[in-house]
Amino acid sequence: MGKTALITGASRGIGKAIALRLAKDGYDIAVNFNSNQEAAEKTAEEIAALGVKAVTYKADTSDIDEVKAMFKAIRNDFGALDVLVNNAGIVDDAYLLMVNRQSLEKSLAINIQGYINCAQQAALRMAGAGKGIIINISSVSSVIAVEGQTVYSATKGAVNSMTATMAKELAPRGIRVNAVAPGFVGTDMLKSIPGDLVDRYIDSIPMKRFGTAEDVANVVASLCSDSFSYMTGQVLVLDGGLSL
Ligand code: NAP
Repeated sequence: MGKTALITGASRGIGKAIALRLAKDGYDIAVNFNSNQEAAEKTAEEIAALGVKAVTYKADTSDIDEVKAMFKAIRNDFGALDVLVNNAGIVDDAYLLMVNRQSLEKSLAINIQGYINCAQQAALRMAGAGKGIIINISSVSSVIAVEGQTVYSATKGAVNSMTATMAKELAPRGIRVNAVAPGFVGTDMLKSIPGDLVDRYIDSIPMKRFGTAEDVANVVASLCSDSFSYMTGQVLVLDGGLSL
């Protein structure tokens, strides 16, 4: 296929599933991670076994210098960049009255600045080619209120807003920008939720199950296909009916 996709936070969870799914569709994959090198190398091995190229890149997406260095390396290794999936994110739940400064700043830096850092670098490359696809992973917490997620929901609301603005600015340059907003997905991110609360959350989902990382990956792959070539600036909620 000769196309390249960068997935941020692809060492684990949803990012890994997206990387594998796009690899199955024939994309060469740039695997970004922050700290978990072993897991990232494992992702790259699994991708390479599918017959496409995979290279890992350690970069904290909230650090613009590290992001610039990563994009430079990707250009050297792959040439053009066709798809960016902004996925690397953190959650650090706390009731408003308990939110501490350090956690707040870290969440804003990774979940908002990190997305803008990568989108900016990707758009610079894609604009030159006159085509490209950016997909921002948001969350259902951007459209419904979940107690303890004042900070997280604010960051994901920002992701929805930036998606619309980026889409408007970049459409004339041939770049589509959309967001996917998953509900609860069974990854490491949910491991901190106590068991009784998990049961309550599942009960509140009309489809009575958490989503899988593959559910999200399938939607991302669809958005990358030509079937969605006229869609931009949209937020697709993928939550088993939770937000209804
Ligand atoms: P996860 O299992 O905790 O994995 C997080 C990934 O992000 C890891 O690959 C991690 O890399 C990477 N990462 C974290 N901070 C980073 C940074 N500063 N720079 C680069 N990479 C960084 O999370 P997940 O559940 O897959 O979530 C992925 C995305 O989906 C997030 O944006 C999240 O908000 C969103 N989401 C998740 C759910 C859910 O229920 N799980 C629901 C809605 C939306 P390392 O392995 O190197 O640490």
